[in-house]
Amino acid sequence: MLPNPIKNFVEVFSKLPSIGPRQATRLAFYITSLGKNKVKEIASAVSNLADLTACSRCFRTHTGNEKLCSICSDPTRNQKLIAVVEKETDLLSLEKTKKFNGWYLVIGELHKNGELEPEQKLRLSALKNFIKKELPPSHKASEGKGVGKAEEIILATNPTVYGDLNAATLKKELGEFTDKITRLGRGIPTGGEIEFADEETLGSAIDKRS
Ligand SMILES: [Zn+2]
Repeated sequence: MLPNPIKNFVEVFSKLPSIGPRQATRLAFYITSLGKNKVKEIASAVSNLADLTACSRCFRTHTGNEKLCSICSDPTRNQKLIAVVEKETDLLSLEKTKKFNGWYLVIGELHKNGELEPEQKLRLSALKNFIKKELPPSHKASEGKGVGKAEEIILATNPTVYGDLNAATLKKELGEFTDKITRLGRGIPTGGEIEFADEETLGSAIDKRS
């Protein structure tokens, strides 16, 4: 019954999060009704996404053919200072405060039960490898001879129940790879989210990390 282009659209779009076959069908008819020019504009907005790649170090989305994003390739950034964030929008919020001069690991959306996805474990092992191989060993002479260590890792997860739970998981994973492991200060109201905190609050949460 449905024209083939609509069928094809529904097949592709109904696999996206929170779009079912019914919404996809409605969307297909709606977009068609906008006219050829608008359809082409939407199509190119989608196909432009193909130019994006993930940074091989922090996994942040960036444009261009370089392996590293602008933050990871910035020589003025402190490589021994790492903040683990859940989402790219958290990274952007922290960047806006201009209070952080290290780099990030974007771990990806965290589970409510504090368990890590296979992809998140891969990202963590990439981080561990970087720390071991690329960073200088700890100045604390007693431990880990010759193996690199981070100066500090900030677990910048949200101050929510699941944020705390996941921070505990991450602490177990990363504890031995750093001299100091911290969380953002409690400037952000408990239950609040980094993404929605204002710059000043977030800035003081970075200063008051412990
Ligand atoms: Zn990067």
